Amino acid sequence: MKVVVFGMGLIGGSVAKDLKIRNFATEIIGVGRTDATNQKVLDLKLVDRILPRDEAIEIADLIVLTVPVNALIDELLFVLDSIKSHQVVTDMGSTKGAIVDAVQNHKNRSRYVASHPMAGTENSGPTAAINNLFDHKVCIICDKEKSDSDAVELVEKMYEALKMNLKYMDAHQHDIHAAYVSHISHISSFVLAATVLEKEKDESAILEMAGGGFESTVRLAKSSPEMWTPIFIQNKTNILEVLDTYIEKMYSFRNYINKGKYDELNQFMKDANQIKKILK
Ligand code: NAP
Repeated sequence: MKVVVFGMGLIGGSVAKDLKIRNFATEIIGVGRTDATNQKVLDLKLVDRILPRDEAIEIADLIVLTVPVNALIDELLFVLDSIKSHQVVTDMGSTKGAIVDAVQNHKNRSRYVASHPMAGTENSGPTAAINNLFDHKVCIICDKEKSDSDAVELVEKMYEALKMNLKYMDAHQHDIHAAYVSHISHISSFVLAATVLEKEKDESAILEMAGGGFESTVRLAKSSPEMWTPIFIQNKTNILEVLDTYIEKMYSFRNYINKGKYDELNQFMKDANQIKKILK
């Protein structure tokens, strides 16, 4: 099985590492954007070789797109324009609605399987690629019925090799759930970091006091703006909705403290504690 990976950063590099070591791929071919990244990817031995995208597509059995979501639509259209009927393409973008809409009428749409492996770290680029990143995490496959069954089966096999638990969902439903859980968490962490950096000018105080929950809460603020900006743009409507609720809750919290409504403050936190029932 020849697997071609477009965009060899954290996700693409980690996919390449595990698919090779777990014998899913006999050869991994990388398609990169810049010479510097291509060289790093070869130095790290993440792929067997690097090829220009048209040459890579020509020999691929499976093409995996792991570029930021703003670049995904163009890359996917390019691949769909070029592939033959036995080849399969999937993407791993964190948003799905805009991508599936962009290709809905393409003649080769059925060779594409939309997917989102819900796994990652705050690090980016090829040096961030690690083994076992996806193990036992959830992967969402979207609009399965719009893809050929053999294409879905191949992508499912790939995710099984990555040891992921598969779930199925409509692409636009996926974006709503992603906004409500994943995207708001990143926004909240970026805003927390920006707030602390503005208020606390003493860096040593941040370092000394970070152990008390700050470090884990702010971890996501180390994530790449190049990757996250296009996600927030593509999922704007859902993100604005959840952000409005978040800001309302922030105001309530401030109000309870400011007005001395300590019973309400206590109840607010008791209600928030209910997350324990879901995440044990
Ligand atoms: P990353 O580490 O920043 O890697 C992105 C890669 O794409 C880099 O190799 C980069 O090349 C390349 N690239 C950037 N812009 C490009 C463009 N305009 N055209 C072609 N290639 C381009 O990002 P990542 O975390 O792996 O994320 C990749 C994808 O996975 C995104 O779609 C993201 O939404 C999705 N995803 C991310 C996570 C996560 O937690 N990080 C989880 C699940 C899914 P250069 O090195 O040359 O810049």
